[in-house]
Amino acid sequence: IVVRVGRMPLPGALTADAYEYCAEPLEALKPGEIRIETIYASIDAGARGMLDPSANYPMLLRPGNRVYTSGVVGRVIESLDPAFVPGEFVRALSVTRQKYLTVAPKRTLGVRKVDPSDGPLHIHIGSLGMTGFTAWIGTFTIGLPKPGETMLVSAAAGAVGSVAGQIAKAIGARVVGIAGGAEKCSAVVSRFGFDACIDYKSDGLGEAMDAACPVGIDIYFENVGGAIQKLAMERMNMFGRIIMCGQVSQYDGNGGGSEGGPNLMNVINRRLNLRGFISSDHMDAFPAFERSALSLVRSGKLISYATVTKGFDQLHDAVNSLTQGRNFGQQVHQMADD
Ligand code: NDP
Repeated sequence: IVVRVGRMPLPGALTADAYEYCAEPLEALKPGEIRIETIYASIDAGARGMLDPSANYPMLLRPGNRVYTSGVVGRVIESLDPAFVPGEFVRALSVTRQKYLTVAPKRTLGVRKVDPSDGPLHIHIGSLGMTGFTAWIGTFTIGLPKPGETMLVSAAAGAVGSVAGQIAKAIGARVVGIAGGAEKCSAVVSRFGFDACIDYKSDGLGEAMDAACPVGIDIYFENVGGAIQKLAMERMNMFGRIIMCGQVSQYDGNGGGSEGGPNLMNVINRRLNLRGFISSDHMDAFPAFERSALSLVRSGKLISYATVTKGFDQLHDAVNSLTQGRNFGQQVHQMADD
């Protein structure tokens, strides 16, 4: 079964007809290929942006197009590559979303065996997959945090944000999150180890940022856009860095409350470095990231949580979970028993 775009959605929450689940025959494997039964597939906020022409997301899908995911982890069920044996667990990155995936590991970037003893299987598409890589590339190629600097992270309870905060904290930065609701904020501090977390759904967001970042913001890891971005940019220190990772508030066709926009004059006045990136442009750095992230996971400095949805035909609801903030940690979709 392969997932394709169904009807292009209206603004707001996705309905079930946004996706179609199409049966396709499985072809016989060619030499060098393996067949993977998908167990977990990552659900990424960008999945909504890809269905909204007004979001200006890097990839726009159309009805009938195959739907992508940043990662799957699954079980080898057939193999014509002697290095892979049925029953082993493997991870594949940036692949189409389908129940059975056929790949040639030697010719496909990002396919590798995973060790189930490293934690729940889905961490290999979360903190150890493209999610973690996105956080790592943004933090260490643009943010460049130094010990004692303040890094503010929006969507801090989510997949990318929670990793960004933890890896900056691991090198000694002071890390402040922004998340929706008191309960999420408290978990961002208690589970992910942030120094503080601001509830953007409460009144007085600007004052809360001042209180949580008393000496200003050196690095802003930007995931959401809108009013949060504007207030953060007004509090940037001289020579600060803004990591433009995503704008999730604007992915559902509603504009995301970006009225007013950021004051870009601050970029000049405060000599800010504001830079966007797409993690898949940096795949050469993936092995270095994996070594670093695995060592943090094994030493307990990089904790992962996942919100798991089930039901193959419930993808629309899993994507809505991200735009509605129902996820804590990474949203993953379980497609087979692990
Ligand atoms: P998350 O797990 O962070 O889920 C999205 C979170 O965004 C929700 O949990 C919700 O948390 C928050 N959110 C939703 N709507 C709003 C809103 N209107 N205002 C404020 N917060 C909101 O998703 P991902 O980790 O998949 O993605 C995080 C960001 O990273 C996205 O912007 C995505 O596009 C970007 N990204 C960029 C990549 C790149 O290469 N540049 C690659 C991968 C992801 P809450 O309850 O706190 O509101």
